[in-house]
Amino acid sequence: MNVTSPSNIAPETLARIIDVGRRLNSTVDMNSLLRQIINEAADLLDCEGVSLLLYDPRRKELRFKATVGEASRQLENQAVPLKGSIAGRIFLNNEAIIVQDVRRTEGWNPKFDAESDFHTRGILGVPLHDGSGQPVGVLEAINKKKGDFDETDVAVLSTFSDLAGAAVSKAQLFDELQQAYFRLNELDRLKSDFIALASHELRTPLSVILGYVSYLREHAKGEQVEQLDLTMKAAMRLRSLIQDMVNLQYVNSAEATTQFETFDLAQIIRAVVVDREETALAKQLTLKLHLPSSPLRLTAEPDMVKLIIDNLVNNAIKFTPAGGRVDVGAALRDEEIWFYVRDTGIGIPVEQLNRIFDRFYQVEPHLKRHYEGLGLGLAIVKELVDLHGGRVWAQSELDKGSEFFVVLPLVPPPPRNTEALRAEPPAK
Ligand code: ADP
Repeated sequence: MNVTSPSNIAPETLARIIDVGRRLNSTVDMNSLLRQIINEAADLLDCEGVSLLLYDPRRKELRFKATVGEASRQLENQAVPLKGSIAGRIFLNNEAIIVQDVRRTEGWNPKFDAESDFHTRGILGVPLHDGSGQPVGVLEAINKKKGDFDETDVAVLSTFSDLAGAAVSKAQLFDELQQAYFRLNELDRLKSDFIALASHELRTPLSVILGYVSYLREHAKGEQVEQLDLTMKAAMRLRSLIQDMVNLQYVNSAEATTQFETFDLAQIIRAVVVDREETALAKQLTLKLHLPSSPLRLTAEPDMVKLIIDNLVNNAIKFTPAGGRVDVGAALRDEEIWFYVRDTGIGIPVEQLNRIFDRFYQVEPHLKRHYEGLGLGLAIVKELVDLHGGRVWAQSELDKGSEFFVVLPLVPPPPRNTEALRAEPPAK
């Protein structure tokens, strides 16, 4: 049967269909969407029952997803084969079918009536289409209350089912996205659990090694001194990697536990730079500090702010070749403190400037790495800056250098949650 054009439909019915379509389109919860569709279809067609079946592409069959009328719940999720059923014919031929008396039609399965204690007389079924016109299911109106289903009913149900089908495929997409999101969250949780476990398990044996090596180094003579120095250096590198993992755990639970204080940020910046001077000197880098003469009073969590500054200064030193320069500075600007770290290092490709703030993201491919690290430092920086209601970004030119900016409000917004317990404090 050819689908009758919407011109058969009374203007007020058409207006109603459009109005309902708009509502369906804004519903993404599949169950409530399906219920709305069948209830509206029953009202529009003035019939005793409505069934909605969706196509399952893996099993290649249709399945009752929602029904209204007395033929209801028992049918839900029951499978209907594509071959030899009325719904299957509608789906495969992708066209509407009117059956005035099911008993005289091929493909009618009385089992459905028997199971639901319902007496089906006539069926009007139309395919449900997704946004691109592909059939995704079937919508059936059952037993018109007055008279028989006619061409106008076909036009009404077809027009309605096009809008309903688009809403269903949107909700399916939303469902899939949500499931993918849950899976990603679960993976993220597993990764965090692994990091927590690994960092915890590695710390204890490492401190035994460090303690013993430094004891041996104190009493060593001759060649042994150099060998033990190398061992000590390697163990310290390992400690710094483990500390990144520990800091990540700290950030994960920090939101709940921030304890703000008011302090002079300039002092913390100075302390970090002094701490890093020796490393910079060993790499023949010029490390310069640019601070105003008056204090930079900031309300924030000092441990976190120190971690932010330390990570950025550490990176600038790490990614700047010998003979280069690192500038660290801060200033007050419009009720905010602007902090920057500028280097003359290897630089970052423009298209990766945002990604470097993702957990585990590193510009260099893992197998060709020259620089040590886990790709966690900037993710930690970003999460801590967010926690203070601030902003962080980088600008860079490849082979010329990079500049990182952190802008913190003088007073941060109040923390969102204060329930959880405090994690281990950071140390670097
Ligand atoms: P890590 O330094 O442990 O690899 P980070 O999260 O601190 O991890 O940095 C992520 C990546 O961003 C680094 O691996 C590096 O590729 C790039 N990067 C960060 N800071 C700089 C910088 N100052 N100069 C050049 N590249 C940088």
